Amino acid sequence: AEESQNAGKDTLVMATNATFPPYEYVDGEEYKGIDIEISQAIADDLGMKLQVDDMDFDSIIPAITTGKADMSLAGMTVTEDRKKNVNFSDSYATGVQVIIVPEDSDITGPDDLSDKLIGVQQGTTGDIYCSDTPENGGYGEDHVVAYQNGASAVQALKTGKVDAVVIDNEPAKAFVAENEGLKILDTEYITEDYAIAIAKDNTELLDKVNASLAKLKADGTVQSIIDKYIKA
Ligand code: GLN
Repeated sequence: AEESQNAGKDTLVMATNATFPPYEYVDGEEYKGIDIEISQAIADDLGMKLQVDDMDFDSIIPAITTGKADMSLAGMTVTEDRKKNVNFSDSYATGVQVIIVPEDSDITGPDDLSDKLIGVQQGTTGDIYCSDTPENGGYGEDHVVAYQNGASAVQALKTGKVDAVVIDNEPAKAFVAENEGLKILDTEYITEDYAIAIAKDNTELLDKVNASLAKLKADGTVQSIIDKYIKA
């Protein structure tokens, strides 16, 4: 008989870090956001139940590689390094790294950050880029303070513990909207692709998820979920 990892399994366990609005956040007792709704649509399409497992961002890839979770939607950027540990689905959204500073800051762009202290969310691409050496376009680890989540990095910025926060554009907008005295700089950072992480040995699920995603893109479901949370 054919053995399959998903045989007889009726629940799709999705790992995320629900501190990343509008992709995933907690509203009262409920998980909400683009990634939650796309996950639900995929689970529905596969005839499975969805279980959301909320964890620190840097615990997500280990949860996938050890099989604690089946897939992750966490505004997670596809990177070559992560591809060594997990497979990624086709991309379903894009993000851009931006810089948040106090309204009265003298920082006007990435070049002004080299002698500053930068707050980031632990393990994110913002952390990875900023912590890299100056030769590689970063500022060096001494210039970076990593927080468990973006909201804590933004609180550190408000209280002057760091001079700037580097984070994805959509959560940046949400954090600036709910915190007075902050602004987002126009920057030249590259656009990143968000995709679904799945264990390397679970190509069966990868194929199913990609097929679902293709269907949900073609029938407009993915775009309508994104449009519900991100106003153009
Ligand atoms: N896109 C960023 C990354 O993948 C941040 C994701 C997040 O904080 N949830 O590293």
